[in-house]
Amino acid sequence: MIKQIVFIIALLITLGVFTYTFFRVLAYFKLTHQDYPVRNLGRRFKEMMRVAVGQTKIFRRPVIGLLHALVFWGFLVILIGSIEMVVDGILGTERIFRALGVVYDVIIGAGDVFALIIAIAVAVFLVRRLFLHVRRFAGIEMDHKKHVDANIALSLILILMISLLGLNTFYVQHALAAGHEIHGVFPVSQLLAPLFASMPADQLYLYHEINWWVHILVIFFFANYLPYSKHFHVYLSVPNVFLSRLDPLGKLYTMENVKKEVQMMMDPNAAFEEPSGEEEEVGRFGVKDVEDVSWKTYFDSLACTQCGRCTSVCPANITGKKLSPRKIIMDVRERMKEKGPGMLKEGSDYSDGKALLRDHITEEELWACTLCNACAQECPININHPSLIVEMRRYLVMEESSGPGDLNAIFTNIENNGAPWQYSQEDRLQWAEELYINE
Ligand code: SF4
Ligand code: SF4
Repeated sequence: MIKQIVFIIALLITLGVFTYTFFRVLAYFKLTHQDYPVRNLGRRFKEMMRVAVGQTKIFRRPVIGLLHALVFWGFLVILIGSIEMVVDGILGTERIFRALGVVYDVIIGAGDVFALIIAIAVAVFLVRRLFLHVRRFAGIEMDHKKHVDANIALSLILILMISLLGLNTFYVQHALAAGHEIHGVFPVSQLLAPLFASMPADQLYLYHEINWWVHILVIFFFANYLPYSKHFHVYLSVPNVFLSRLDPLGKLYTMENVKKEVQMMMDPNAAFEEPSGEEEEVGRFGVKDVEDVSWKTYFDSLACTQCGRCTSVCPANITGKKLSPRKIIMDVRERMKEKGPGMLKEGSDYSDGKALLRDHITEEELWACTLCNACAQECPININHPSLIVEMRRYLVMEESSGPGDLNAIFTNIENNGAPWQYSQEDRLQWAEELYINE
């Protein structure tokens, strides 16, 4: 009974903190633009199964990709066992899902094997991060805090897997010592259990309980740590793929407010229409600060795994330019963290005298992009970096006329002459004048 009460209190604290975080993040989403419609649910589901569940993009790097995929699939299986632990904790039962019979054996058996695989994979990831210099993990956006965060999350996963194997091992050995029936199948733990054959039954039970509590409390802590860490992608990467852009990479979206203006100019009747009386507010063109980004771009920034696959294929970055597509996405999250609390407190007009543009992302970075879309192609969770870069360039050009000199000249020529060159339309055929063509 005491175990149940302690468990329920721990669960309520976990749910309370999680609910606070959920509504806080939701409030940040409300500060962003809502102009990202989600249609084609069937196609989205297929994309999610292919890219997120199938982990197809991850396999472009076969060895490390396989380890990542095994961790992901293992988590899905182990999650079922964790749900059982929560039900057991609330009801004071033991292995309540055993009523599922052979299905239970398969799930528990797979979870036992995956616990070992994940522990090995995570140990490899940790060694790689701590002792090997992987270029993909370096960059100005990857400061010391980011590395510490990644290592904490990996260490917590390692503790989770070791405690899971521990509780399974002591469960098996205790059942053997006490003459109880073993529920479930434990391919790995059954091999480890004989190591503790000399222990008395009550000691085995104690060690089982310690591992059980360590495992569930780390899950509770981890669940609330994730939203504040780069490992938020554990929750968000699958939905992020579901919500990702389905249009071909590189497709530029029409700006609705500009389209309306042009339609007005082209429609001869529009000039004579009676004004509706309501002044329509024309918003900012493009993206200057975090409140100008779409909710999906903010979602991208939270879901980003900081893996650096995008930056590692970026031709601008590879050739020494200042641009890192990973940094562009991470900056959105940073900026919301910086400005969001003030906006929630003082309203959407709040200003801290800074902006996403220039204080986080410089013009040099934005104009270094070739819009090749290699980053978006490579991102394992379908983040589309160029769409944000284009929106920020649109702000620079349309609100500040501050594009690079050559581009400004081209835009002026298109505006004045209908062509990128500096000649007037009347002079277009001058080149043919001396060709003596008979009229
Ligand atoms: S689209 Fe831009 S940011 Fe992305 S890989 Fe190409 S150059 Fe780099
Ligand atoms: S944007 Fe995608 S590829 Fe780049 S670091 Fe984030 S998850 Fe990795």
